[in-house]
Amino acid sequence: MLSVMKFGGTSVASATNISRMMDIVAERAASSRVILVLSAISGCTDALITVAGGAPDAAGEIKSRHLAIIRRLFTGEERLAAEKEFLELFGEMLSSPKEETVTYGELFSTRIVARKLSLEGYNTRWLDSRKLIIANDDDATVTNIKAATEDSSVGIFVAPGFIAGTPEGGVTTLGRGGSDFSAAIYAAAVKADALQIWTDVPGFMTANPKTVVSARTIPEMSYEDALALASKGAKVLYAPTVAPAMESGIGIEIRNTFAPGGAYTLISGAHSSNTSGWIGLTSARHGDECVITLVGTPDGGTAARIGPFLAKAGIAPGAVDVSSREVAVTVPWALDVRTQEALHREFFELRGDAGTIDLYIAGYGAVGKALIELISSRSAALSDLTGKRIRILGVGNSRGSLMDPDGLDVAEEGALPSANGLPSRDTAFVDEVLRIVQEGALFVDCTDSETIYKRYPELFAKGVGVISSNRRSLAIPYVEYAALKEAARREGVPFRYETTVGAALPVLESIARGAAVGDEIISLEAVVSCTLNQIFGEYSGTGRSFSALLRKAAEEGLTEKDPRLDLGGRDALRKLLILAREAAIPLEEKDVEIRSLAPAPGEDLYEALEKMEPFFREELSPRDGLRPRFVALLEKTRGGYRASISVRHVDSRHPAYNLEGTENAIIIKSGYHPYPLVIQGAGEGAIQAASSILNDILR
Ligand code: ADP
Ligand code: ASP
Ligand code: MG
Repeated sequence: MLSVMKFGGTSVASATNISRMMDIVAERAASSRVILVLSAISGCTDALITVAGGAPDAAGEIKSRHLAIIRRLFTGEERLAAEKEFLELFGEMLSSPKEETVTYGELFSTRIVARKLSLEGYNTRWLDSRKLIIANDDDATVTNIKAATEDSSVGIFVAPGFIAGTPEGGVTTLGRGGSDFSAAIYAAAVKADALQIWTDVPGFMTANPKTVVSARTIPEMSYEDALALASKGAKVLYAPTVAPAMESGIGIEIRNTFAPGGAYTLISGAHSSNTSGWIGLTSARHGDECVITLVGTPDGGTAARIGPFLAKAGIAPGAVDVSSREVAVTVPWALDVRTQEALHREFFELRGDAGTIDLYIAGYGAVGKALIELISSRSAALSDLTGKRIRILGVGNSRGSLMDPDGLDVAEEGALPSANGLPSRDTAFVDEVLRIVQEGALFVDCTDSETIYKRYPELFAKGVGVISSNRRSLAIPYVEYAALKEAARREGVPFRYETTVGAALPVLESIARGAAVGDEIISLEAVVSCTLNQIFGEYSGTGRSFSALLRKAAEEGLTEKDPRLDLGGRDALRKLLILAREAAIPLEEKDVEIRSLAPAPGEDLYEALEKMEPFFREELSPRDGLRPRFVALLEKTRGGYRASISVRHVDSRHPAYNLEGTENAIIIKSGYHPYPLVIQGAGEGAIQAASSILNDILR
């Protein structure tokens, strides 16, 4: 397999940038053979044109810039050899016919880089694009390239972009910006597994970021839309590049050399990601006018709005031409920037309609499924009641994911995530979401992953809020928890997790409201372990043994996979940490004293529990009008707070006395609530959890 990587002028403009580029190439070269296509260093082609035009002064600077790069990249003998090679080429350039002068920029850059790569130990071969790419002879081009790249012992081929040969044996160019095209020609000829165009911006953007600072990366683009924008002036991609890639079905990635892991664009046969029908805008100068083109599939109404909108902005366009996929606005050149900015603001920034909430749902277990069903069955009623429309743009679990930038039709897709080719890593879904997500969307964590929370800050940084039902990702050290909260606040995005304690019961909200207004907690009792509540309710001391009841609960799926975690108070601990922290009390796991019901590890759990039956009979039998409850307790003391988890016996006046089944109770005594606030009700269930998540989403 061969990958084609093309780096533009800025990416090779200095020794530092070349080193950066070589790191990126090295990573790819570790798993694939590479054809590396390079531009001339930035500004070089322009300077060569001046030289050819009879201004030899420009040659001096070309020479000194290349020599400076060589001096930084090589030492000793190698430096002498590199200088010698460059100076020979440079001399050849000076005496070349003037129509060939311009072709030397790519020869300079590629000879230097090829030499450096060999020195670094890569089996490198320089390809003479002038002999391989023959203008107007595709068949010869393909045959030549295939033959030249056959040798599988070569790890990296280095080829100059931009330049080509004529059928008569002469030298020519593929047009300004043509190195992109060279890369596509190489890629199509070898049926490359990837065509990457590395440049100085994060992908193909909604506008030229040097003109419109709020331009955003377009994560996915169709070949057609890329071609439309490129041919109307978007210089980031040379328009002829699209055809060879499209004909051979190779995706074009546009990536940023200066942020290799960041946002990028994938141009392929799929639909473009868009903002209400529009993909991007671009501008091209024609004399003292310029034509600004908006590309997309706008409905008639939006297109018709452009004229009046510009008039209101004080811009009088010469013409507004509307076609099915484009709107072209002609304005005087002096108004170019202002018009681009105004159109971008109107059609790409304010378009995000405030009534639509976009979701990516991670986790497709009982809760994830219930949530999707709830959203799909409530969608009509929701938009009537709240004016909000919810779109699910992605659903994923560790096995795979489904994505649709226009919203999944969840009612239709019977079998949601199935493997669709995504690698089965825990984080693959997050990676994919981070790549395509737009600001303002929400990420819903219905997984029980213990590490996924580490990715929340990346989501926050993209303007994406997180709604979580995953208590494992919140029962983390306090500093990490506080950092998450702080990161969300800093980015101004929601981070809510009401579901993590007591499912749909409004527990965290009540505590947070109290904390906000200075209502200090005196004591908080949480009877929140659904499993143990259920078992305690059934246990009489004379009927079935504790061990038997636990086994039944495990079979009903009520316990953790390892029921020792329930007995050890692990689940109650997580909930207590979350409760305390919501009240601004920085409780840590080590501060909580736990009286575990779990037997010592080692022995078979149920056998060990049978042996402990006398202990349970003593500890758990109802007696003297008291009933046992598994209570997580937080109490204010003189020095701070004391926290414990243990079995307590409560009398009939206690709110937890009458709890049934998996019911929960949270009893909060506080400065403002000397008669405690009691929140009691169903503490679990998929529909309860789903409804609570949906409320967090709508808030
Ligand atoms: P390279 O030398 O890497 O080929 P180019 O200068 O040819 O780079 O193309 C990248 C430049 O294209 C960016 O620096 C940016 O100013 C410009 N550009 C114009 N339109 C767009 C767009 N829609 N998205 C991104 N960049 C654009
Ligand atoms: N060096 C050529 C140019 O400046 C080709 C390229 O960079 O793509 O037009
Ligand atoms: Mg370019």
